[in-house]
Amino acid sequence: MNKTRILIITLALCWIAIATFVSADSIAVSGITVDSIIQDSVEVASLTTTDEIPASSALYPMSAERKAKMASYSSFKSMWRFVEFFLGLATLSILLFTGLSARFRNWAKKLGPKFFVLWGMVALILLADYILNLPFHIYRSFIVENDYGFMNQTFIEWFSEDLLGLALGLIFAVIPAWFLYDLINKTRKWWLYFSLGSIPFVVLLIVLVPVFIMPMFNKFEPLEDKVLEQKLLTLAESVGIENPDLFQVNASKQTTKVNAYVTGMFGSKRIVLTDNIIHNFTHEEIEFVMGHEMGHYVMNHMWHGLAMAIAFLMFCFWITSRTIGGVITKFKARFKFESLGDIASLPLILIFISVLSFIGQPITNGFSRYNEHQSDVYGMEVTTVSGEAAATAFDKLSVFNLSDPDPGDLAEFWFYSHPMIKKRIEFVRSYRR
Ligand SMILES: [Zn+2]
Repeated sequence: MNKTRILIITLALCWIAIATFVSADSIAVSGITVDSIIQDSVEVASLTTTDEIPASSALYPMSAERKAKMASYSSFKSMWRFVEFFLGLATLSILLFTGLSARFRNWAKKLGPKFFVLWGMVALILLADYILNLPFHIYRSFIVENDYGFMNQTFIEWFSEDLLGLALGLIFAVIPAWFLYDLINKTRKWWLYFSLGSIPFVVLLIVLVPVFIMPMFNKFEPLEDKVLEQKLLTLAESVGIENPDLFQVNASKQTTKVNAYVTGMFGSKRIVLTDNIIHNFTHEEIEFVMGHEMGHYVMNHMWHGLAMAIAFLMFCFWITSRTIGGVITKFKARFKFESLGDIASLPLILIFISVLSFIGQPITNGFSRYNEHQSDVYGMEVTTVSGEAAATAFDKLSVFNLSDPDPGDLAEFWFYSHPMIKKRIEFVRSYRR
């Protein structure tokens, strides 16, 4: 293999790794590697500016009006996830059944070398998808956000940022596509190599992100509150986490959200709390949250999550490899391509992956919710925190992170990687050590 090729494969795998982790729609940057206590929170950037929050209504406790708004926003979001899924399928089907995808491939072929042909193809598919979905996208991401008061950009500002996102896609999306088609054309076991190949890169990311990437965005400093520091060190030692590094992060410069995590691999152990949680939670509430986080660490949930993500990716690609050929044979006259190795099949591959991952979400999320519950149990067991204090901690998480405590059973089943807050509160209140 020559150097360029190794470089491209490396980039491709990093991209896949990032995509795998971020696609779960969980939480901002920290969601890549760390537990975030809570999920499905609303981006609260606009609410953090002082003029958005009248002085009379402090963040906690939440006003009834804001609570109602949060609930209606949350049910809209759940409904729209289904709408978005079907819109996506419709768009890709149009590209396939009208023969447009095959026509794109013919246009792209004029670009010369193989890599640029694929690049042109990916770009055309992305552009067509963007244009066909634009009205719905504007409705969901600008109009609705604006109606709920989460938008502090003008339409032009929002649209130019959106186009920037599209441009990044146009530049980078070719990388995993190149890797995928290269494997498809070489081996029938492409699904296996594609999935396994991403493991070392995901592990690398898990190690690198907290230590090298996150400090690029925020300051990691020793805890100011020495009493709290001592309490957490004692707690860590009691669960077998010896000599961890304890940090306080200035997350408040970006968000009102609260977060904390325990991470580490190959000897390094980091316990991290954001300033938001330190300033708004009592010591008892923080101890419960950290007990939960230490539970993830001690019970190796990060490795479980990693194994699950890779296994799921592999399963989706395996099913695809076994069934996609039949679909191509059946519709080849309309699709105007005859094999999976033909890059005109890209929209079809995307349909398979999006259907399989949509159907599979309840499984991966169910698995994650199980681990989250285990950590809640752990948090109650290793601390002496009262059920009421733990319940208040959850209530605060819901308010600060603007997450609906009761999104409904269907939304939880399908989309939630954490049990709904209402159930977690009920659990800690009724828990007896
Ligand atoms: Zn957790």
